[in-house]
Amino acid sequence: MTGDSHGEDPGGGALVLLSGGQDSATCLAWALDRFEQVETIGFDYGQRHVVELDLRADLRAAMAAMNPRWASRLGDDHLLDLGLLGQISETALTRDTEIAMREDGLPNTFVPGRNLVFLTFAATVAYRRGLRHIVGGMCETDFSGYPDCRDDTIKALQVALGLGMDRRFVLDTPLMWRDKAATWHLAEMLGGIPLVELVRDQTLSCYLGELGKRHEWGPGCGNCPACDLRRRGYVAYRTDR
Ligand code: ZN
Repeated sequence: MTGDSHGEDPGGGALVLLSGGQDSATCLAWALDRFEQVETIGFDYGQRHVVELDLRADLRAAMAAMNPRWASRLGDDHLLDLGLLGQISETALTRDTEIAMREDGLPNTFVPGRNLVFLTFAATVAYRRGLRHIVGGMCETDFSGYPDCRDDTIKALQVALGLGMDRRFVLDTPLMWRDKAATWHLAEMLGGIPLVELVRDQTLSCYLGELGKRHEWGPGCGNCPACDLRRRGYVAYRTDR
């Protein structure tokens, strides 16, 4: 993020991958805190928890309302239809099947290549919009074993995108080495308790898209791996405080 001067400078703005979950909402606050121009992008790929996408507009509006500086920085939202990804992947996120571990140790919620596809399309949009930074909530610490969340994967893709588009992109992953409790602490650091409460109450991480059931850690079915991770992280954060 320091001032490198080589290559064409597409500007210092950022494009944030905003799904409507806890991680991407925290990433949006992180970007609004740092960059003068911030746009958001979301992907509809036929996910079962598509309700998450509906939260994005409210989340953006609420975050802008929290801080005038953030409001002045927040720009356009882009929603891309990636239905093709859902059509060609057989996973518990895109099919009505039970969430389980596969024989190779990966959960069957793994959509092969999802983050590679997301980041590549994000770079295409960032190129057009003149944004240098692409911000995503990928995390290697608490991750579910998804190989496309690994730091090495992201770094390799940053190199590939830079070469393939002849643009200097920076893929920022502020949550890469933070566990879920640390992600709550980051939200508190960026926007105080109001941001923690906003992320808790207005984001959804649940794989089943269960928005109706409310818990102290936010909405969710309470049973899927994503809900379990979110609950444990929130409890650890509350205990630390
Ligand atoms: Zn759930």
